[in-house]
Amino acid sequence: MGAEDPRNSNPLIALAEIGKNDNAERRVAAWVGAGILGTVLARVAARSDGISRATISRATTSAGDTSWSESQRPIDHRRIAPGTVSKAVTVLKSHELLETGRPVRRDKHNIDQLHLGDRFVTAAIHLKLDKDKPSGMLVALCDISGRTIRAEHTRDFTEECRSWHMLPHFIRASVDDLRRSLQDRHSGFEPALFGVAVEVGAPVIDGAVRPIGANFHIPLATALRTLFAPPPGAPGLPPAILVENDAACLAALTWRDRGYDVADLAVAVVLDNGVGGGLIMDGRLRRGHSGRAMEIGHLLVAHRPGASPKLTVGQPGTRRLDRQSPRCTCGLAGHVDGFATVNSLRRDLHAEDTDTLEQAAQRLDPWHARRVLSRSGSFLGRALAHVCNVIDPGFLLLYLPRELADPDPARRTTHYMQTARRELVQAFAVRGQPPTEFDIQSLPIGPDGADRLLARAAAVCLLDSVIEQALAYDPLDR
Ligand SMILES: [Zn+2]
Repeated sequence: MGAEDPRNSNPLIALAEIGKNDNAERRVAAWVGAGILGTVLARVAARSDGISRATISRATTSAGDTSWSESQRPIDHRRIAPGTVSKAVTVLKSHELLETGRPVRRDKHNIDQLHLGDRFVTAAIHLKLDKDKPSGMLVALCDISGRTIRAEHTRDFTEECRSWHMLPHFIRASVDDLRRSLQDRHSGFEPALFGVAVEVGAPVIDGAVRPIGANFHIPLATALRTLFAPPPGAPGLPPAILVENDAACLAALTWRDRGYDVADLAVAVVLDNGVGGGLIMDGRLRRGHSGRAMEIGHLLVAHRPGASPKLTVGQPGTRRLDRQSPRCTCGLAGHVDGFATVNSLRRDLHAEDTDTLEQAAQRLDPWHARRVLSRSGSFLGRALAHVCNVIDPGFLLLYLPRELADPDPARRTTHYMQTARRELVQAFAVRGQPPTEFDIQSLPIGPDGADRLLARAAAVCLLDSVIEQALAYDPLDR
């Protein structure tokens, strides 16, 4: 999250620091550090249905008597003394990050259930790119766990507005508009900003976007941090800022939705213009050295044996190969993105504007349609097989557009997934014991469905990053 003082950009660290000062004035009885605040908040945020103080206090055990028994997340492996949990809950409640919901009756006792507070929202932004420029965005205000969206709008940028320089200002204006609209809708409810999370279909490292094939990087997180910083001395907590790769965010969302039940998890997602990947390893989101980890859209999968030396663009002999091997957005030939995305399928199936993929496939002769879909699926499957062999994830989830995920054998588009699956099970890691658990998930349908999912995923990723930073600042072991 950048090199500057985390007290100015992490709400939990700021909260712990406020507590330190308050404690000095003896206004609160005791102080809890940012790591404890983060751990308690993380355990509450993991549940959509509320959690008791006692469950927050318990750690993962192999005895299986607690609700954390499945969790592979490092912070769930620790017991926190009930008194410490109570102190943290008091601090988090005093700032309305937590609230007490309806109690649950258990063993003749009423047990309070804690939920995330209503007052804070995370601004979650799906950024659309056209080549290496921002072309539009979906801005959503959601609860800090990223489960529900309370207000949203989309905006397509005109040609002159496609500028990285203006983007932070557009984001700020949209977030302010949406907060006002929420305030108008619920009179008296003034949403406070927990964070601003932006996801984008490009490599991102340290909050800087590095579009593939571009020779520049955009320090978007730094610009947003400056723009969203509260004025000096203003009350309240500073919002956290996150800029992250879209598929990396999806990995964070998938992990949370599975209850953090594996320590190594990979996701792949087939979108209109690209195939992305995200990775959780040893219980942490991994980005690689320059944000390009899991850029599976650029895996070389399509060259014929012996053809590899001729693949580099501009070298003699590329013409013959290029005819068969469409150019990827990065400029090179033979990459997954050249074949396995929705738009490359539309191109190869000669789809007309209003066609679904199935309609386009039905119009071609069956052999041709099958060839296109199988080739595309086999390249995707080969890429996933490489992921399994390199990463050995405990769980691999593939997000597909509904049409390609539909297993109905009457549809021609099923050739895509059938072939992908066949390629995948050829992989060494998948043939071994125990096998990688593999699953397919449909992307939400309807306009902006996938964009909304990715934006919510960015909110999840932001919360996880805030907690991770709080733990690094103030480890539980101190
Ligand atoms: Zn490429």
